[in-house]
Amino acid sequence: MLHTNIGVNAAGHLTFAGVDTTELAARFGTPLYLLDEDRVRARAREYVQTMRECMPEGSVPLYAGKALSFAGIYRVVCSEGMNIDVVSQGEIATALAAGADPARMFFHGNNKTDAEIAYAIKNKVGHFIVDGFDELCAVDRAAAEAGVIQRVLLRLTPGIDPHTFKAVNTGMDCQFGVQMDGAMRFLSEALECEHLSVVGLHCHIGSQVFDAQPFLDAADIMLGFMQDALTMRGFIPELLDLGGGFGVRYTEADPHVDIPAEIRRIAAHVREGASKRGLFEPAIMLEPGRSIVADAGMTLYTVGQVKPGTLGAKSYVSVDGGMSDDPRFALYGARYTVYPASRMNGEKDFVCTVAGRCCESGDVVAENVALPSPRRGDLLAVAVTGAYNFSMASNYNRVCRPALVMLRGGEARVGVRRETPEDLISRDVIE
Ligand SMILES: *Cc1c(COP(=O)(O)O)cnc(C)c1O
Repeated sequence: MLHTNIGVNAAGHLTFAGVDTTELAARFGTPLYLLDEDRVRARAREYVQTMRECMPEGSVPLYAGKALSFAGIYRVVCSEGMNIDVVSQGEIATALAAGADPARMFFHGNNKTDAEIAYAIKNKVGHFIVDGFDELCAVDRAAAEAGVIQRVLLRLTPGIDPHTFKAVNTGMDCQFGVQMDGAMRFLSEALECEHLSVVGLHCHIGSQVFDAQPFLDAADIMLGFMQDALTMRGFIPELLDLGGGFGVRYTEADPHVDIPAEIRRIAAHVREGASKRGLFEPAIMLEPGRSIVADAGMTLYTVGQVKPGTLGAKSYVSVDGGMSDDPRFALYGARYTVYPASRMNGEKDFVCTVAGRCCESGDVVAENVALPSPRRGDLLAVAVTGAYNFSMASNYNRVCRPALVMLRGGEARVGVRRETPEDLISRDVIE
């Protein structure tokens, strides 16, 4: 099986986190998001403990909530010792509702609105990651109005392409952070802001990275900048945040990442790099999202229409969800592993495209899936849907979003209830 939390029981049913998926589907309905809480905790602990062991005091992982944000997840990751990365007023409000300590929040995003900045300051969010010059002024002004000194990190763009492991010196063209050629001016302006305390530097190189090498390359560029910043401005950061992005295994073709081993490589590299340059060794932060929750997730669907292909056309199996609960295939052709959850021992003789239920030919769950001659009512499971599924879901076609059920120690409980048509209509103004 793709991950150790996936199995098959004596009835030939798929199990997830030790629980029979057909029983979960019968009890909670489909489509249904499952979240293996024990797995989330194990992943969180792996980051927290490894970073504690091999990095300077104060080093800590931030959970990137954009991967999966609902109140319950903040309870889980905070209780395991992670801090949290928030990107909007909605994420801040969700984490606060879960009782998360705002001092442990780091506010990200390339376009925080003035209202969001004021909200975050009012609610005592610990750190802002400032994304550009305009925002520097906006946060400084808001901090002045609130009569506080706001701790900030500066987001720089080291221009590493994580998928070729190359530094692109012109900078990867993107809307995030400040390119290295503007970094010293960014720092200088930040240091001039009377209501900001610049405590660190941040970069984020990308996502689905299977190897620490691009993080090491990015760290080199950041350390080089720290050396210049020390010489030119006498600036010494307490924190170096290297962002998120470790990859996860969606299909058998993807490698496993040994996260503790990769974290140790990063730790050793930064330590060595800092000492070589005569720099104070900063505490390190990493911002994993996907690698904390992805393989803790699974989505269950019920098969509806089955259309065997004739005259060389593809066969289609349509399920009761799709792009409305997981737009990743439609957005960027994401690949998944699909299991015939209710008939795991059947002979997989039917190759098909598993399609969703929305009125778009691009609403596909997965292609070239082999299933035991599927029938209406069969249960299908899509593995590794914990990240960027729930958080990217929509109400396209006025489809109600699924419930999310958390599994812990073999027990199931609802983390987010299923959306109802009444929920959808509740914001409509009917004159
Ligand atoms: C998306 C993002 C992350 C999380 O990335 P994953 O690939 O989910 O680990 C962390 N930090 C920043 C700034 C991001 O944009």
